[in-house]
Amino acid sequence: MLKQIVQVSDESEIFRDALEKAIENVSPLSRVQELDNSKTFDSGLHSVLSELQVLGVGVPEESGGAGGDAIDQVITLEVLGRKATSMAVYMVVHFMITRILLENGNAEQIETYLRPLVEGRIKASFCLTESGGGTDILSSMKTRATPDGDGWRLNGNKMWISGASTSDIYIVLARTAEHHTRGVTMFLVPANAKGVSAQELQTVAINGYDTNEIAFDDVAVGPDAVLGVVDDGFPQVIATLNGERMNAAAVAVGIGRGAIEVTRDYALERTAFDRPVGQFQAVQHQLAVAGTAVEAAWLLTLEAARNDAAGRATDVVSSMAKYASARAAVQATDTGMDIFAGAGFDTSLPIQRYLRDARLYSFAPLNNNTTLNMIAERWLELPRAK
Ligand SMILES: Cc1cc2nc3c(=O)[nH]c(=O)nc-3n(C[C@H](O)[C@H](O)[C@H](O)COP(=O)(O)OP(=O)(O)OC[C@H]3O[C@@H](n4cnc5c(N)ncnc54)[C@H](O)[C@@H]3O)c2cc1C
Repeated sequence: MLKQIVQVSDESEIFRDALEKAIENVSPLSRVQELDNSKTFDSGLHSVLSELQVLGVGVPEESGGAGGDAIDQVITLEVLGRKATSMAVYMVVHFMITRILLENGNAEQIETYLRPLVEGRIKASFCLTESGGGTDILSSMKTRATPDGDGWRLNGNKMWISGASTSDIYIVLARTAEHHTRGVTMFLVPANAKGVSAQELQTVAINGYDTNEIAFDDVAVGPDAVLGVVDDGFPQVIATLNGERMNAAAVAVGIGRGAIEVTRDYALERTAFDRPVGQFQAVQHQLAVAGTAVEAAWLLTLEAARNDAAGRATDVVSSMAKYASARAAVQATDTGMDIFAGAGFDTSLPIQRYLRDARLYSFAPLNNNTTLNMIAERWLELPRAK
């Protein structure tokens, strides 16, 4: 492992070391690569995360969780991003769902879904994006829920939904009224409800976690399926998406660090002109530049998490963290591919996986352009970009 530049508390250090060891025991990089090549979810690692109560990080003990805060979550995600990226993406979704449930669920919903989730007995997906809209989903959303007796009927489709083929429950955002900023409601929809069908998509990365299109064909749900307040689902979700941005940043930092670690090791072992390639200054500079960008991104990510844990606003700093880490991860993995050269094309080695996986966070959960718009508007106080 690389030396840590940014210090965290002793307690966090112990947690990080224990988590790293547990992941290396059950899923060393070679196994992660095999699962990635065969597009298989790492159920063994999921069970270990459940046993270690990592699935409950950020959830209070009285709700069945392990306690902890945003700092513990970003540390978890950085380690997973470095060691087992698909599971890190699973955990980003998981942490978002547990937070949405905590902040918006009633007592019965928390009992029914939150406890089984943190105990690893069920999995959940978050369904916002559609085929006709991602960044502009609020204006382009076509999925609708119409009142039906005392319940609702859902019709529409969702696109690029992580984990939908393997989840038990979906949080679905659907339009319930015509309004510019409101009129969207969150629903808890069982994956096996009549009229729901998920179709796995063929994708180039995050291969250990399925990505799907979902159709909702006249799906009937009861009044208890509403999560939070009718017509207020979008502002409720936006509050959580700030957290998702910093969590995505932590995964991107992990990917960048992972790429630098394996490339440093390779540069020491591979020789050219009778010396390790890591002795060429050009190679050293490439790695030093990429590593500096990753560590700077980690500082922003930790600062976002510290703000969140202290109850302060995180919108600007989590946007900066997400932008910086997405760029740093792409730079670090690209540098890794340069230095591995021909060996970078070997699908049994992890650098090509890091390169592919790093691309996700340039556009998800929010694309880099819109992330910059947000920084310009809220920090630089410039007019809203068109
Ligand atoms: C592997 C994977 C997993 C995912 N998991 C989930 C999930 O679990 N749940 C979920 O709801 N979604 C999920 N998504 C969807 C993801 O959140 C969207 O892809 C993302 O929000 C971007 O939307 P889009 O792909 O429709 O891009 P678009 O919105 O079509 O953007 C296309 C391009 O236009 C640019 N652009 C758009 N608007 C602006 C603007 N205002 N200013 C400047 N440039 C702009 C963007 O930068 C981008 O380059 C996932 C996607 C992938 C690939």
